[in-house]
Amino acid sequence: MLVRDRPDGAVRRLRAVATVLGVPLILGGFLLTITQANARRRDDLYRALSTEAAQKSARLGDYFSRAHDLILVAAENPSLRDFFALPGDRAARVAAGGKVVDDVRATLRALHALYPDSIGEICYIDRGGAEIARLVHALAAAPADLSPDERSNQFFSSTIGLPPGQVFQAAPYLSPDTHTWVISNSTSIAGVDGTVPAVLHFEVDLESFRSSLAADHSNAVTRVFDARTGAVIIDSRFPQLAGAPVGQPTDRTFVPLVGSLSETGTVHVADTQIAYEQVTTGPNNENHWVVAVAAPAAATGWWNGISATTAATFLAAGVLIAGSMISTRAYRNRLEAAALTDALTGLANRTLFQERASQALAMNARAGLHVGVLLLDLDRFKEVNDTLGHQAGDILLQAIGPRLGSVLRQSDTLARLGGDEFAILLPAITSPAAAGLIADRVLAALQDPFTLQGLEIAVEASIGIVVSPADGDDIDLLMQRADVSMYAAKQGRLGAVAFDESLDVYKPEQLSMFGRLRRAIDDGGLLLHYQPKVELGSGQIYGVEALVRWRLPDGTIIPPDNFIPLAERTTLIKPLTTWVLNEALAQCRRWLDDGDHISVAVNICSRSLLDRTFPTYIANLLDAHHVPAELLELEVTESTIMADPGCARDVLDELHQQGVKLSIDDFGTGYSSLAYLKTLPIDTLKIDRSFVTHLSTDDSDAVIVQSVIDLGKNLGLQVIAEGVEDAQTVAILTASGCHTGQGYYWRRPVTATEITASLHTPTSPH
Ligand code: C2E
Ligand code: CA
Ligand code: CA
Repeated sequence: MLVRDRPDGAVRRLRAVATVLGVPLILGGFLLTITQANARRRDDLYRALSTEAAQKSARLGDYFSRAHDLILVAAENPSLRDFFALPGDRAARVAAGGKVVDDVRATLRALHALYPDSIGEICYIDRGGAEIARLVHALAAAPADLSPDERSNQFFSSTIGLPPGQVFQAAPYLSPDTHTWVISNSTSIAGVDGTVPAVLHFEVDLESFRSSLAADHSNAVTRVFDARTGAVIIDSRFPQLAGAPVGQPTDRTFVPLVGSLSETGTVHVADTQIAYEQVTTGPNNENHWVVAVAAPAAATGWWNGISATTAATFLAAGVLIAGSMISTRAYRNRLEAAALTDALTGLANRTLFQERASQALAMNARAGLHVGVLLLDLDRFKEVNDTLGHQAGDILLQAIGPRLGSVLRQSDTLARLGGDEFAILLPAITSPAAAGLIADRVLAALQDPFTLQGLEIAVEASIGIVVSPADGDDIDLLMQRADVSMYAAKQGRLGAVAFDESLDVYKPEQLSMFGRLRRAIDDGGLLLHYQPKVELGSGQIYGVEALVRWRLPDGTIIPPDNFIPLAERTTLIKPLTTWVLNEALAQCRRWLDDGDHISVAVNICSRSLLDRTFPTYIANLLDAHHVPAELLELEVTESTIMADPGCARDVLDELHQQGVKLSIDDFGTGYSSLAYLKTLPIDTLKIDRSFVTHLSTDDSDAVIVQSVIDLGKNLGLQVIAEGVEDAQTVAILTASGCHTGQGYYWRRPVTATEITASLHTPTSPH
């Protein structure tokens, strides 16, 4: 309510001038706001569509390269060549069956098991075009059903002409076996005498690609089109119908783009915004695909560019100024109230944060992408205010933004929610682990003290981490849970804590567990057990894996599965890993001093692997313990690497250059890209124990294990089987070409003293 004195003449004249100048200013501002908001909506949509196109294109590229790699690995299986050494002609050899023919079928089955999506048909054809073996949907065809002549198939002539080691990837065709649209991969087999006796071939349903391209957010449509014709090959909305033409442009949307396409880009066609990205293909691939993600263009009518409150504010401001009834100060207050930024820091405010978060959640709902929120609260900020005054407090709050901003990406939103509370929106992260990683970076960014009134002020903060969809898919729930986690972090002085149901504030046992674990790490409550890694032939121990345990004051031993996940969700994993590394290296040195050259393996979680200072830290540690780098082995899982592949590669490369050995733990359980793994400086694959433990009784495990062994060999890697529990498994592994193992068959994890005792006697089974 404005209380005014009756204006005198001079003031009236001034107001008249202000009105004349003010009205156009307000209107101009209004239009500018609309234009900017519209441009932002359009850009936001392009950004979301581009991210989606890039991801889907990478996914298809990975399918291509995985198909390419796997068929080459399979083609080297000796059974494919041995078949031609059997007596008799093709029909006689197939009819006689026996081990070689079984092995040929097992090779096809392994290919089927390792390819990430459904393979419809796999066959092995001799150079005359007659089938030797064929699987349709993993079932082997009876000898009588094998086709006598496949030469007319388009892929056949293209492949038989290629030298072995090359793969032909055919354009879509209607499969005579599965009666569905497929693309196929084929390669020729190297015969003993330099001839090419046969062709290995498999088909993948286009429909299975389509299901992995399903629309991510309600209005978007993903289509894959041919870069040379513009013909749509896959449309996320429509199942691939056998009768429908593929390869001819019935949908003409992309035809005009042909010829002017770059690798990646955005276009506006009719009323849609489209982002596209070409799929990377290797040589001899007929599929030149482009992934296009389209959505109705962001509405750009003037009424869409502005929110109801902003419109109302401008309208009110316009009316008020036109009537010369408002003071400049009140006018500014109004605008500030409507604005979306925090006045003190210039960061986004709560309204804008929530708006952006809701947008990100809606867009990524089905993209397989996660939205992360970090809620950050400064510790003991009140002390700064109380001792140095509010002005100093304000300066500190203003200095926080740039520090945090330096470790965030452009697409992230940093907001001040009020007081000393900040929030960070990570609109598209590939894994929950990535949020933890960024939280660590944020905490690290605050580590250097701030200078206030000539004083150095150390600032600490507590962060609550939530990630959609696991922790919720609407912003209110996420914020509430972020708050719970942040509170837990503060109570336990834990730095950053990821949300977990068990963090309920009403369950203080969990918090006290964090506290007790923290003390255990500091006060010698942890211990290491070691499990031998053994050479299968001699039973000789060549290395050990260090496995941590927590010993309670009453002597109870807690296994790692009960506290490692807790540690990984908090900053505790860091001091824990530090303790394990120190202890393991000290033990390794003791063994060296006794003349035992034993490597020690330590399990590493993603937080360490994604810390760029980790290699230097390891180098210093090796130095301090006088242990040569090649005696340290780090075990990382596929998911750890995939949390941030770029960063992981840099860290692994650096470790490798130092001579540290690297192995992929639990291999076979993750979904990493084979093409990517191939480029990493890995020494060893550890076949996950879930495939090994039942090896002697489960046929499909046997096929997978054999394939991993072959894969390892082809990539030049050592392969070790973990979870070996009986002699039969050892025999199978040896026959399959795997020469190292780890498991209860030899020894459970035991103390260093027990390892020392058994070092000089070959490990007999326990
Ligand atoms: P992992 O790295 O896969 O370790 C192997 C686990 O398999 C060990 O369990 C070991 O006792 C068990 N195992 C070994 N041979 C056999 C067998 O023949 N049969 C069966 N059924 N199991 C066998 P453990 O010691 O309970 O460790 C469990 C997990 O805890 C480890 O799995 C690892 O992921 C984690 N972990 C252990 N120590 C550490 C550590 O220091 N740091 C980190 N980050 N994680 C650790
Ligand atoms: Ca391990
Ligand atoms: Ca393992």
